[in-house]
Amino acid sequence: MDLNKRNKVLRFLDEHYPNVGCELRYRKDYELLIAVVLSAQTTDQAVNRVTPRLFKTFPRLENLAQAPIQAIETIIQSIGLFRTKAKHIKALATILVNEHDGKVPSDKLILTRLPGVGNKTANVVRAELFKIPEIAVDTHVHRLSWRLGISKRTDSVSTTEKKLRKAFPEERYILLHHQLIHFGRYACQAKKPQCEGCALQSMCKEPHKYLEKPLINRR
Ligand code: SF4
Repeated sequence: MDLNKRNKVLRFLDEHYPNVGCELRYRKDYELLIAVVLSAQTTDQAVNRVTPRLFKTFPRLENLAQAPIQAIETIIQSIGLFRTKAKHIKALATILVNEHDGKVPSDKLILTRLPGVGNKTANVVRAELFKIPEIAVDTHVHRLSWRLGISKRTDSVSTTEKKLRKAFPEERYILLHHQLIHFGRYACQAKKPQCEGCALQSMCKEPHKYLEKPLINRR
């Protein structure tokens, strides 16, 4: 991606999504970690619907570590993969209590060794809690990256992450991640993106199929 295109993307995102951030609700560091683990393959809204009850029923990390799996399952059963996630939450809480003094580690390697924590979750947690410049590639970020010509559609998540890191300045990573997610969630959706009037049409890899008429007939 050349500098002009890069700056155009940044200007567009700053204009439309100037102050966006994490939409998962949390009060404590470990609550954010658990919320991100729960958010795999489901929406932040779905997670926000279950976490208040989860953290009210088990107000401390120790309570979660000692909780019966079934009790966690009952609270989070409305979200996908709830059985696996319930196991992960309990195991994760146990490890944090026993090995990390109840604190969320910032080290990438240590984070990704925790149950249910992959590279994307670790990146979200590192950026959100520790302000470490990371770009977490979720489905929205992946789609936006190839639509805007930063990566290829067939690129893996890790290749997309590398290309994003190369294309944008490090100090923009954290905000850029949130901006791309918001753009993908609320305008440039997978199935029916709002292409009419989108200022990024000229550099987009697939605007035409989403416009009522092809651009060539619109003059
Ligand atoms: Fe997304 Fe459509 Fe804009 Fe392309 S033209 S970036 S598909 S909204």
